Amino acid sequence: MISFAGKVGIITGGSGGIGLAAAEKFLSLGASVIITGSHADRGQKALNRLKNKEGAIQFFQMDAANEKENDRLVAHTVKEYGSIDFLFANAGILADDVAHKLAYEKWQHVIDVNLNGLFLINRAVIDYWLKNQKEGAIVNCGSICSFVGQHQFPAYCASKGGIKLLTQTLAISYAMHNIRINAVCPGYIDTPLLDGRDLDKQKLAEMHPMKRIGTPEEVANVVAFLASDAASFVTGAAYLVDGGFTA
Ligand code: NAP
Repeated sequence: MISFAGKVGIITGGSGGIGLAAAEKFLSLGASVIITGSHADRGQKALNRLKNKEGAIQFFQMDAANEKENDRLVAHTVKEYGSIDFLFANAGILADDVAHKLAYEKWQHVIDVNLNGLFLINRAVIDYWLKNQKEGAIVNCGSICSFVGQHQFPAYCASKGGIKLLTQTLAISYAMHNIRINAVCPGYIDTPLLDGRDLDKQKLAEMHPMKRIGTPEEVANVVAFLASDAASFVTGAAYLVDGGFTA
């Protein structure tokens, strides 16, 4: 049985999709959680959905790609809840095009939010743990695109490939401090990320051997496992949750 009773976590991008399902999961397992997002209205909607759960919950509005705001998030979490025990670095965007049509600004934006932002919050949390001689667990949000290319998503795939290797590098750097760092790597998941773009969900489903796309809750279950003591000897792993897509 997994329990997060008395534990405190940060979930970036916790106001929607996979992050919101993860927040729900961690709260139901007894954790106190701070979720982030860039839109206040999305944050408020998430709070409305989560407010009657067991643990304490707060929304922190910020830009995931901003260095100072990531440092502020860590300081705010410690001030409000006294500590940090786990991080789910999940904030991410898909704003891409096939490479020869991809504007450099779009490329930069995707790399900034998905990869640079994830580095910044990993750095800030690890620094807090080292300075305070604490242990902890990080789960970074990769993707099947950490393993395989998708021709319409060059910036996204570059960011997610980077997340996998960054996760492995950080894992070996801090393993001796009992800081575990893993990545969860979902296949296509039914969230707002897929909406409003030229993606046929039925065709996406056919690409997975299980003939369906995944749910945010199916990813959240694995995130909770990786962040928990049940995964005490797991670090540097990139854990696929993809209905067999990459196999
Ligand atoms: P989603 O529903 O759009 O949620 C994305 C979350 O990230 C939201 O809370 C969003 O809040 C936040 N976010 C985006 N840009 C931000 C920024 N600049 N600053 C702060 N927060 C920001 O998408 P999702 O599918 O749950 O995606 C979550 C993670 O899963 C991403 O890393 C994504 O790459 C990964 N993933 C998704 C799939 C999939 O098929 N859905 C597959 C593999 C991996 P705001 O909108 O308020 O900014």
